[in-house]
Amino acid sequence: MKTLLKGITAILPDGAGFKTEICDICITDDTITKIGNSDGFTPDKTVDGKNRLVCAGLVNAHTHSYMSLFRNSADDLMFHEWLFGRIMPMEDKLTQDDLYWGTCLACLEMIKTGTTAFLDMNICREAVTRAISESGLKAAISRGLVGNGRNDEGGIARIEDTIYDYKTYGDNKRLKFMMGPHAIYTTDREYLELVMEKAAEYGMDINIHLSESVKEIEDCKKEHGCSPVEYLDDMGMFKFHTVAAHCVQLSDSDIKLLADRGVWAATNPISNAKLGNGFARIPDMIKAGVNLCIGTDSAASNNTLNMFSDMSFLALAHKGNTRTADIVSASEVLKMATENGAKALGLENTGVLKEGARADLFIMDLNSPSLQPLNNPVAAMCYSASGYEVESLMVDGEFLMENRVTEMDEERIYFECNKAMKRIDG
Ligand SMILES: [Zn+2]
Repeated sequence: MKTLLKGITAILPDGAGFKTEICDICITDDTITKIGNSDGFTPDKTVDGKNRLVCAGLVNAHTHSYMSLFRNSADDLMFHEWLFGRIMPMEDKLTQDDLYWGTCLACLEMIKTGTTAFLDMNICREAVTRAISESGLKAAISRGLVGNGRNDEGGIARIEDTIYDYKTYGDNKRLKFMMGPHAIYTTDREYLELVMEKAAEYGMDINIHLSESVKEIEDCKKEHGCSPVEYLDDMGMFKFHTVAAHCVQLSDSDIKLLADRGVWAATNPISNAKLGNGFARIPDMIKAGVNLCIGTDSAASNNTLNMFSDMSFLALAHKGNTRTADIVSASEVLKMATENGAKALGLENTGVLKEGARADLFIMDLNSPSLQPLNNPVAAMCYSASGYEVESLMVDGEFLMENRVTEMDEERIYFECNKAMKRIDG
């Protein structure tokens, strides 16, 4: 299949930043084969690029897709009350079908707002992975692992869920699987060591929540005499390619450790603000050279999976917080949300529009008041786009949405999710 984006405004890489050009983009099967002019290219399909913009697909580096079911059902609560008092009791009532439909809703929202890949942490075997697999999106999937000791039956079963999904869906080239120890406060050291052994055995990366709340830090200091970052480093976790979600409460030495070890910190600015956890030290982390990417967290604490909202909030929160307008630039934020996210997930050759890269991208309709006049397309992505200007979205050269129409049964997804929540929390 050959697709041509003809005369389209493209956001292309340019050194550490971006440049914008009107050009032709030639796509053969899953790969961008040429950017410039399309002389000699004979497409099966041509997209007229007039008044359209193309950008590398966004990568949501931390979410829990099934929790889209809980959107707007646990608000204005502090983190621990939110998680243990509200979310976990609802999770206990979830069926496999609920998990499937909640994940479908998440995938639909991400497709409609420009996200081509995401890092998921879920609570089950199969149902979530099946929904993601059917959506056509790229994902790194981790089953949330909670356990104590090496002989904890529940803890072992959760690891087996990860391996089951890896073996069952391993042929799907858009999916990869990670070991997902939930956090240091829902596991003990022995269990984390078991998880690392399994990660090594199956060649998997690690996805964990880290240093999210003040309570987590205080408890860790009491119990282990060090910070959560030091605790994980001491047991050797950062020898693995690790994506650490949140990283809100960090000391100077924590920041240095994350930078030295090459840990990917997935910041979740809206979720952290909403749950009263504060703001990550992003400007200090940028300065120290920490690998940074952006996640929405779940729709139960955001309350959307729209990366455009988090991109904007990330830049604005730190400008406001530090009273420094150039502390985090639009270009830095867009890079975190695209190229860096793809690297964090360990996805091959994506996150950037260049020849030889995978065709993972979204196309926006520039006939939108929020994008006019198009004085600076990169600033537009960070500060003025709502996300719903996304008209079409492509993964591996395949359209998952074209002119706002997806292959998904949207009406059924809304019906099933509402039905489930009536039963769970009606
Ligand atoms: Zn999370």
